[in-house]
Amino acid sequence: MSALRYLLNVITGGSGEKISHQRIAGLISARLHSHLLVRRRALVILSRIRLMTIVGMVLFLAGILMDVASFPPETSSSLALFRGISALLLLGLMVVTRQKDTLRDAYVALGIFFAINLVFQGLYQPLILPQFVESIDGLTSASYAIFPFLVVVCIAIFPLTFKETFLTLILIFTSELLILSLMPSQVNPMPGLGILLSLMGASMLCAFSSISQLSYMLSLVEQASVDSLTNCYSRNSGEEILDVQFRIAQRQKADLAVVFLDIDNFKIINDQFGHEAGDRILAEAAASMKRNLRDSDVLIRWGGEEFVMLLPNTNAAGAGKAIRRMRTNGFGLRPDGQPVTASIGITDIRSVGTKSWTDLVDQADEEMYRVKTHGKNNVSVVRIANTSIAS
Ligand code: GH3
Ligand code: MG
Ligand code: MG
Repeated sequence: MSALRYLLNVITGGSGEKISHQRIAGLISARLHSHLLVRRRALVILSRIRLMTIVGMVLFLAGILMDVASFPPETSSSLALFRGISALLLLGLMVVTRQKDTLRDAYVALGIFFAINLVFQGLYQPLILPQFVESIDGLTSASYAIFPFLVVVCIAIFPLTFKETFLTLILIFTSELLILSLMPSQVNPMPGLGILLSLMGASMLCAFSSISQLSYMLSLVEQASVDSLTNCYSRNSGEEILDVQFRIAQRQKADLAVVFLDIDNFKIINDQFGHEAGDRILAEAAASMKRNLRDSDVLIRWGGEEFVMLLPNTNAAGAGKAIRRMRTNGFGLRPDGQPVTASIGITDIRSVGTKSWTDLVDQADEEMYRVKTHGKNNVSVVRIANTSIAS
C-alpha cells in the first residue's frame, strides 16, 4: 500500500503532503465517490467525448482527400467508405450523448468512442500493409503509423480512476493484439510488435495524466462542495444533488424522503455561551446526524442552523424511523449539559403535489414549521392527504 501511496503521490503532484486513504480509494475506484463528484465527472467525460467526436469527424473526413492522393482508387474508395461510416458513427455518438448526464452513460459513450476508432483501425490495417505504407508519401504513411497512438492518447483527456484507466487500456490492447493477429501471415510481425511496445509506454503516460486530472477534480469538488464548519454539503452543491436524486427517483419510480431539521433556540445558545460554543454545537449536531444516516444518504447544511437530509430509496415512514434513532442518540450537549434539541419535518416524493425537488424541501420545511409552532423538539411526518405530529 505504501508503494501505491508513493506512486499516487507522484501522480498527483508530489507536494509532499500525505494523501488520505479515502483519497487513494477515490483515485483507485469510483465506488466511494460522492454524488456530486459522480455527476460532475460524468458531465466532464461526456462533454469531452462530444469534443473528441467533432475532432474525430473532421480528421476522418479530411483523411479521405489524403487517401485519394496517395492510394490506388480501389484502396482509397474502401478507405473512404470506412472513414465515412466512422464519421457518421461519431456524429451519432455526439447527438445521443447531448441529453445524457449519468456516469453509466459516460462509460457507455467512452466504450463506443474507443470501439469506433479501433474498428476503423482493424478495417484499414489489413488494407495498408506496413511495406505499402513505407512506399507512399510521408504525410499519409505517418498519419496511419501514429493512428494507434492517437487512440491511446485520447485516454489522457478524461479524468479516470486507476481501475477505469486499466480497463480502457485492456480494451485497447486486446483490440490491438486482435488486429495484429488478423494481419496476413507473410507480414513481418516486428514493426507491429515495436508499435505495441511503444504504445505501452505511451499508455503509461496517458494513465498518469488521466489519474492526475481526477485527483485535481477530487480536491476541487471537495473544496467547493463541503461546508468547512460541519463537513456537510453546502447549500449550492446540495441543491445540485437534490435535483439529480429527484430526477433519478422519478425515472425509476423509487422512494425518496426529505427531512428538514432546525436546531431549537440556537440564538439563545449563541447569546448565552458565545459564538464559538455555537459553532462547536453545530459541528457536533451535524456529526451526530451523519452517524445515524446511511452512506447513500445526503446531509446538507441548508442555512445557519438548518439542515436538509435526503434519503434515497426511503419513504417518509422509513425516514421517520431513522430520525427517531437520531433523536434517541441525541444531537449533542450544550455547555450547560442540557441536550441540544431540534424541530424536524419529513416528507417524501409520493406526497401530494410534489412536482420538483423544491416542492419536497418546501413541504418538509412546512412540516418543521408546524413542529415549531407546536412547542418544538418534535417530528412531523407528511402523509398522502393529511399530516401528523409524531413523537
Ligand atoms: P427556533 O427555535 O425558532 O429555530 O429559534 P432559533 O434561535 O434557533 O432561530 P433563529 O433563526 O432565531 O436564530 C438562528 C441563529 O443561528 C441566529 C444566528 O446568529 C445563528 N447562526 C447562524 N449560523 C451560525 C453559525 O455558523 N455559527 C453560529 N455560532 N451561529 C450561527
Ligand atoms: Mg432557523
Ligand atoms: Mg432554530
